[in-house]
Amino acid sequence: MVSDNFLGNYASVVAARSTDKSILKGAQDGGIVTQLFAYALEEGIIDGAIVAGPGDEPWKPVPVVATTVEELLAARGTKYNISPNMQLIKEATRSYGLDKVGIVGTPCQIQALRKGQLYPVGLRDVPDKIALAVGIFCMENFPYQSIVQLVEDHANTKLENVTKMDIGKGKFWVYTGRGASVQLPLKITHKYEQAGCHVCLDYVSNLADVSTGSVGTPDGWSTVFVRTKNGGDIWAKAIAAGCFETKPMDSVKPGLDLVTKLATEKITKNQKTLAERATFGVGKGLRNPYI
Ligand SMILES: Cc1cc2nc3c(=O)[nH]c(=O)nc-3n(C[C@H](O)[C@H](O)[C@H](O)COP(=O)(O)OP(=O)(O)OC[C@H]3O[C@@H](n4cnc5c(N)ncnc54)[C@H](O)[C@@H]3O)c2cc1C
Ligand code: SF4
Repeated sequence: MVSDNFLGNYASVVAARSTDKSILKGAQDGGIVTQLFAYALEEGIIDGAIVAGPGDEPWKPVPVVATTVEELLAARGTKYNISPNMQLIKEATRSYGLDKVGIVGTPCQIQALRKGQLYPVGLRDVPDKIALAVGIFCMENFPYQSIVQLVEDHANTKLENVTKMDIGKGKFWVYTGRGASVQLPLKITHKYEQAGCHVCLDYVSNLADVSTGSVGTPDGWSTVFVRTKNGGDIWAKAIAAGCFETKPMDSVKPGLDLVTKLATEKITKNQKTLAERATFGVGKGLRNPYI
């Protein structure tokens, strides 16, 4: 087990992508989240997964309990605004009747999940029913209105025409059909970020069973950290079943160094923000949730 100050505890890290072309088409990166849940669902390891499904407004996610592969496929792709997936954690074990719950979330959502398991205030029956927590990397998120401004005003593109959004290589990319794309420098997007993200000290979903993101691996591939025993068992079975193609992390570019660099930058910057909150007022500070 590696124990890293910025990347968390993990048993292994690899570059991977799904071997299923129908999952890869429409996935954000290597389709790790969708493939892992689809495999777990088919094998009865989970009986449903909470994912960020499509809603009525374009690119505004709505959390759903997916109990079929079709529903998992419909939730592929990153929506760069808040999807309160934890909202359904209790309901999944109630009206949906799930005994083995899967959930995907940003690092803060996986923290909420683990807190709920250890301190289950108002969450009776939930802690033992979490079967697979998949975390995604996250530098920052945006309120929905910010995405509207960025796409419609800055990128001059109608949200309903957008086929994919991505943050990478120092830019916010907005893709429409037929290969067209608009790129915004991140210095434009900063002021639109969700303020609460500026005290977040987790980049690679340190508390998940398995965590994944795009940084570190080539386009169409994902970086995957296998963290817990539960995550390791499911990952090994999925590999044995032929669900994923993998490569050693040190054989791909830009590799783990870039993941470490970005994790260090995020955490160091946000630790500074937290420290400033302590002396924010005259003789008074703002609350620090970590102490
Ligand atoms: C706000 C945000 C910021 C991110 N920042 C980074 C980053 O800095 N570096 C990096 O490497 N990766 C980042 N990612 C992760 C990356 O964009 C992909 O989500 C990840 O690599 C999974 O891709 P995939 O092909 O395996 O997933 P897919 O198979 O395409 O599935 C994606 C899954 O993520 C879920 N999802 C989509 N949007 C949200 C959301 N807003 N909240 C919760 N769940 C959601 C979907 O329901 C789906 O199940 C970020 C993701 C989000 C949501
Ligand atoms: S930056 Fe942190 S707080 Fe903001 S969405 Fe990502 S994980 Fe959550």
